[in-house]
Amino acid sequence: MPLTSEKPIVIQISGLKKTYASGESELTVLEGINFELMQGESLAIVGPSGSGKTTLLGLCAGLDIPSAGSVELLETKLEALTEDGRAAFRGENVGFVFQNFQLIPTLTAIENVTVPLELRGINNAEAKARQLLDEVGLGKRTTHYPIQLSGGEQQRVALARAFINDPQILFADEPTGNLDGSNGGHVVDLLFDLNAQKGTTLVLVTHDLDLAKKCDKVLKLRDGRIETEMASA
Ligand code: ADP
Repeated sequence: MPLTSEKPIVIQISGLKKTYASGESELTVLEGINFELMQGESLAIVGPSGSGKTTLLGLCAGLDIPSAGSVELLETKLEALTEDGRAAFRGENVGFVFQNFQLIPTLTAIENVTVPLELRGINNAEAKARQLLDEVGLGKRTTHYPIQLSGGEQQRVALARAFINDPQILFADEPTGNLDGSNGGHVVDLLFDLNAQKGTTLVLVTHDLDLAKKCDKVLKLRDGRIETEMASA
């Protein structure tokens, strides 16, 4: 075991600001956002509706670009990449989970899981997809279509899909927002099992306090600024 166990920093956010044009003036929806996360750490972004959580997640994932400041993932500054470059970077390094699952209704569970790799021209991912579906408890549902699955099961398929490219970072927007307590709890447990097994860094937007409590850090936004930043208990 090496003595230096310090993990690498995988997310470094500095001086992040986002403004939108509003008539003749500017509307600032995020400002003064700084934080960093090490490999395997988990962060919950919480705060009231309209406080900037989704905007911050989109900037961190390179889906949107900041008006000022920097987003560095895995030592790559996203603002230095083109839009295509950011998309390729996400395809290789990042996974996503959404509140409304966003499965493709015409594809089976296993076909949904392999989509991110197929988009990158990588075929023959079936065995890996099957293994991931097994890990989320859906080994017997691989040929079901989304409509034949419950909400909790659909989100488990979405989790398997998010991990198919072995992402170093996973972004999730209200991953339990459409699930009832027990299904939500199951998805949260799976998320953290996968995080522990694979060392994935997690960034989650959530209203779910049980989920936030499980994260290493919690960032509370108010009116586009960090109101409090705490290590979770
Ligand atoms: P949250 O996720 O915390 O509910 P959002 O990040 O969705 O908050 O929104 C933060 C603020 O930014 C809100 O006031 C919202 O109206 C504003 N906003 C978001 N997107 C746009 C946009 N494209 N143009 C103008 N204002 C926007």
